[in-house]
Amino acid sequence: MYLNNNRYLLTGGVDPLVLCEKYGCPLYVYDSAIIERQYQRILDAFNVPKLKINYACKASSNLSLLKLFKQWGAGLDTVSIQEVHLGIKAGFALNDIIFTPNCVSIEEIQEAVQLGVRINIDSISALEQFGQLHPEVPICIRINPHIMAGGNRKTSVGHIDSKFGISIHQMPHVLRIVEATGIKVEGLHMHTGSGILDADVFILGADILLNIAKDFKYLDYIDFGSGFKVPYKEGDVETNIEELGEKISERFIEFCESYGRDLTLMFEPGKFLVSEAGYFFAKVNVIKQTTSTVFAGLDSGLNHLIRPMFYDAYHEITNISKPGDKPRFYTVVGYICETDTFGVNRRIAEIQEGDILCLHHAGAYCFSMASNYNSRLRPAEVLVHEGKDYLIRRRETMEDILRNQVEVELEAEVLVQV
Ligand SMILES: *Cc1c(COP(=O)(O)O)cnc(C)c1O
Repeated sequence: MYLNNNRYLLTGGVDPLVLCEKYGCPLYVYDSAIIERQYQRILDAFNVPKLKINYACKASSNLSLLKLFKQWGAGLDTVSIQEVHLGIKAGFALNDIIFTPNCVSIEEIQEAVQLGVRINIDSISALEQFGQLHPEVPICIRINPHIMAGGNRKTSVGHIDSKFGISIHQMPHVLRIVEATGIKVEGLHMHTGSGILDADVFILGADILLNIAKDFKYLDYIDFGSGFKVPYKEGDVETNIEELGEKISERFIEFCESYGRDLTLMFEPGKFLVSEAGYFFAKVNVIKQTTSTVFAGLDSGLNHLIRPMFYDAYHEITNISKPGDKPRFYTVVGYICETDTFGVNRRIAEIQEGDILCLHHAGAYCFSMASNYNSRLRPAEVLVHEGKDYLIRRRETMEDILRNQVEVELEAEVLVQV
């Protein structure tokens, strides 16, 4: 969002206050121009003959967003059979969908085989079973290169005791299974975590993967996962995607020459593509002054946006009702009966009850992690595209809360003290 005459505006001059009026609060809004810019940045950064970007849709899985990605030519990275179904519904070609689950049942993997999407295998056990059941179906193998990366212990998934992928130390075992079952390995994959700071760490992982790749004869693609870091506040470091692109492309082209064939270079970013494009708007219900703190209590909570509480994530907070007013310090909290703090002692333009605050960078892992805790309704989602706004998910109603509940009549009597 940019400031113009003391109003915050989205791309195309769309006024978020008008959207909040029209659709109500709390509200998620996505600006497609920012997603498109980020997608284009990745395309431009990697200069190889064959490149495919698979959007990791767990970041934000609204069908209308998926359709945009499809139209831009992206593929889809999915981690559950339900996400596979969403991808198919959004119109992705089956071989543009890759299923990268972790610790799912062999039945779920078989369901994905039946649907016809690409399969990424994440454990020795699954590889053995899969090789027995479907030796004719080509697969991708997820390797854990054991590099420590990621912003936070919870988001780092490449380290030595991580549950993800097959350890590089088990490659001889993998090769024996491949040999014994005759299964065709068409892809190798790694994903070392969310929010990798350092291009060099990424390249280290890439080198490890390429080194293993020589041992597989039938590869079509190598998937370097994601983990591109985005800045959440001023001064945050962002993955230098252009520099990374140059270095990885050079190594990849070199590898393809020695391998004897042009493979597809794949990535599967989530956060990098959609984080900045999302805004979460919530109304201030209460201003509460204590001896030490001024609280701004929102009509929202960890049920709608849990990243600050779950990951200690920082989301910039602004007062879009009165951006020009003199800033004061506020601790912004939710209405859930837990300590759900969005931000501590933030400098925000003076807030009055009824003002609308914006939590920025709310496009990734925000709505998609929302819940009905406290039996609250999940908010609506709006997409702004080429100057127009589209409702892409209705606000929930009490019916949604009740939908799957089954009321049974039980015999029970009032309990009294004896
Ligand atoms: C979550 C996930 C991603 C996306 O990670 P970001 O940090 O959002 O870019 C990519 N690949 C896999 C396998 C994932 O689980």
